[in-house]
Amino acid sequence: MADRNDTLFAHAREVIPGGVNSPVRAYGSVGGTPRFVQSARGPYITDAAGREYVDLVASWGPALLGHAHPEVVEAVREAALRGLSFGAPTEGEVELADLVAGRVTAGGLKPIEQVRLVSTGTEATMTAIRLARGVTGRDLLVKFDGNYHGHSDGLLAAAGSGLATLALPGTAGVPAPIAAQTLVAPYGDLDAVREVFAELGDRIAAIIVEAAPANMGVVRPAAGYNQGLAAIAHEHGALLILDEVLTGFRVGPAGYWGLEVEAGSLYEPDIITFGKVVGGGMPLAALGGKAAVMSQLAPVGPVYQAGTLSGNPLSVAAGLATLRLATAEVYAAVDAKAVQVAEAVSAALAAEGVEHAIASAGSLFNPVFAAEAPRDYPAAKAQAAFRYGPFFHAMLDAGVSLPPSVFEAWFLTAAHDDAALARIVEALPAAARAAAAAQG
Ligand code: PLP
Repeated sequence: MADRNDTLFAHAREVIPGGVNSPVRAYGSVGGTPRFVQSARGPYITDAAGREYVDLVASWGPALLGHAHPEVVEAVREAALRGLSFGAPTEGEVELADLVAGRVTAGGLKPIEQVRLVSTGTEATMTAIRLARGVTGRDLLVKFDGNYHGHSDGLLAAAGSGLATLALPGTAGVPAPIAAQTLVAPYGDLDAVREVFAELGDRIAAIIVEAAPANMGVVRPAAGYNQGLAAIAHEHGALLILDEVLTGFRVGPAGYWGLEVEAGSLYEPDIITFGKVVGGGMPLAALGGKAAVMSQLAPVGPVYQAGTLSGNPLSVAAGLATLRLATAEVYAAVDAKAVQVAEAVSAALAAEGVEHAIASAGSLFNPVFAAEAPRDYPAAKAQAAFRYGPFFHAMLDAGVSLPPSVFEAWFLTAAHDDAALARIVEALPAAARAAAAAQG
């Protein structure tokens, strides 16, 4: 029976390509009608038909504290009353830069002295790459198979046939010469990166890597992997760009980098990118690094970058309120809830005899329909992904909204209370049965 979501989706497809403003929202890989959200509060979203779901998407990460946290909403409201956008510097931007630089410290290391605010993660990584090219005077970029860094041309590059083969366009619309500035290496293999650098090291400006990949599903980096990338880059005069757009301020107070340093992996990325949580649900992202690197950006340095809405006062207010509330206790609570849900998912799938593993990195996790958690993109793709659609829809029918793709992390929030967690646990047996019955 058609409900308001179906009607809206039909209309949306007439006026918006595919009916959505970002592809994964279209439910393409799980089928069915996306839920049009009319409101969200705490751990819940309510769709256009008035149905409530426990949400494990959390706006794809930003809602660390849960949706519409009263103090964050109040901060945005107060900011809005003072004006929506000025195109001039504000005190809040200085406070947020201070907060970001001050939080990202661990093991006596402090990789961030200066911060530039932008509006999206895509802009943050795009700017980081231009900055690395400007600083090094080199053009090539190394990225990894299955890592996502936003949709700028050079980052939508697909691996060519050989290790040191310059990449091919990963989508229509990317000129081949631009894709050819990117080298796509297999994830997790330091030797492969060493080989690429042995051949082209004097032409490589930077390595960009997700601090812990979460866009091919979660893949936990091997201990010392990111540190090894830093060492290779630095040995060849290139920079390491650590992409913490998804993990930054989500998995811990100093991001995934902070967790790694605390675990004994002492290294410093040259540029770190942030998004999602840093803007508390508003459009805001950032990049930070040492002053020697960051000061190469305009207006002091020769690397141009700008934005009408950069450091927008509403976004800054949301980011400041969110980061101030994101205490060590919040991260510990989110970690514990993630473990609880992951264990319940695993138990339900095991009860139905479904082959699976739980992939996790900090509080990020997702079930994988394979015997082991993947270490790279080919392994992530090799799972029995056909089981996810029926699993997803059984959860949705029971009032739990999961990411509509098997290749996305599940996000818990500080607002997932016992009632919300109980609803997830109750929904799992039927979803596990649906996964077991799925035909590949
Ligand atoms: N980098 C990573 C690791 C991401 O996960 C994303 C988005 O999911 C981006 C960059 C791009 O951010 P945005 O969607 O804000 O442009």
